[in-house]
Amino acid sequence: MDWRSLDEQYIVSTYKRLPIAIAKGEGNYLYDTNGKTYLDLFTGLAVNVLGHSHPRILRALREQGEQFLHISNVFLNQPAIRLAQRLVEHTIPGKVFFTNSGAEATEAAIKLIHKWTKADGAGREGIVVLKNSFHGRTLGAVRLTRQAHVYQDFPQPAFSVYELDAQDTAGLRELCQKVKPAAVLMEPVLGSGGVVPLSETFLQEVSAICQEEGMLLAMDEIQTGMGRTGKLFAYQHANVTPDLILFAKGVGGGLPLGGVIAGTKLMNQFKPGDHGTTFAPSPLSAALGNAVMDELLDPEFVKGVDDVIAYLWNQLEALRARLGDQLQALRGKGMMVGIPLSVSSEEASHLQQQLLEEGILVDVTQKTIVRLLPPLTLTKADVDRFMDVFARQLAALTGTREGA
Ligand SMILES: *Cc1c(COP(=O)(O)O)cnc(C)c1O
Repeated sequence: MDWRSLDEQYIVSTYKRLPIAIAKGEGNYLYDTNGKTYLDLFTGLAVNVLGHSHPRILRALREQGEQFLHISNVFLNQPAIRLAQRLVEHTIPGKVFFTNSGAEATEAAIKLIHKWTKADGAGREGIVVLKNSFHGRTLGAVRLTRQAHVYQDFPQPAFSVYELDAQDTAGLRELCQKVKPAAVLMEPVLGSGGVVPLSETFLQEVSAICQEEGMLLAMDEIQTGMGRTGKLFAYQHANVTPDLILFAKGVGGGLPLGGVIAGTKLMNQFKPGDHGTTFAPSPLSAALGNAVMDELLDPEFVKGVDDVIAYLWNQLEALRARLGDQLQALRGKGMMVGIPLSVSSEEASHLQQQLLEEGILVDVTQKTIVRLLPPLTLTKADVDRFMDVFARQLAALTGTREGA
């Protein structure tokens, strides 16, 4: 079967696809229909935090699948209640609104912030976001996404959006003297914006400004959450207390699930009829979410992840020290790594292709930044395998260039 041409004929090309059909995933590896094996350092864009076919996930899938798949929001939904309780207990005192995706979590946050400003009556309006941010692709979320190629061809809803440079607290203070924004929304590590971590000091200063000015602090943890940076949520490295936390990607254990956690008083602005969706929270997604949480809340598991994170960064830094200026400063946090290459975008995609040939799947973002989003189950042997192939292919690439 020629899956590639059927794909081109019947599915719209909003994504550039690799010409590979996956037959099976197991642990940290994917197997294609030709039997070729790939170390998965992409995890479906930070979704499969426990790798593929994890026994806990498969058990939850079977157990919940045999009970019911969908019941709607008119019934009590035990898997979702349990997941919400655990998310709240490990973040901020409050409540959860569940969605099916990250973009819908952003939409829910926009509506909630807006409703809060009306009740607040202080004339607040608009949301501060960072330059190069990414918050999703529905219209409201696109408005908050400050990457021109994402928003330029589409209508922009009318609410105010203020763009701030990362780390620019002076800019935020100045802005607050001119206008009265309702909230600041940030990714603790900008993902598609180039794997740029915000400093802990910046997060703490923004949090203090939000308190002084009476603005809400919202964290987009859609990519950074669920253990990705070494803590359950990345804001927890900085010891700040957000008013809203947006989550999605890894939370459904591979199934669609997302949502917003907000303080009780804030979340209670949503009254029956204010917001909703047919599917979320899917009991099956929530059951898988609980399986993910079982693992992420296990101190043994966390210790293992910390070990491999330290090993991965050590190996990468050692390679950088060996190569001098071929690699720019590494970026990211935990299992979210950006390796900026000093090459052209064609060379970067050639390198990605060569890695794939050798059975290693990585992402490239902002044209020349190799992005790793490994499963939290990554092993030191996996790291060694990646380092070996990466160093060799990088040498081949830059060697070719010198000879040309
Ligand atoms: C992926 C992502 C989104 C959008 O999530 P979808 O599920 O694709 O709608 C929003 N914000 C961040 C930071 C993301 O990484």
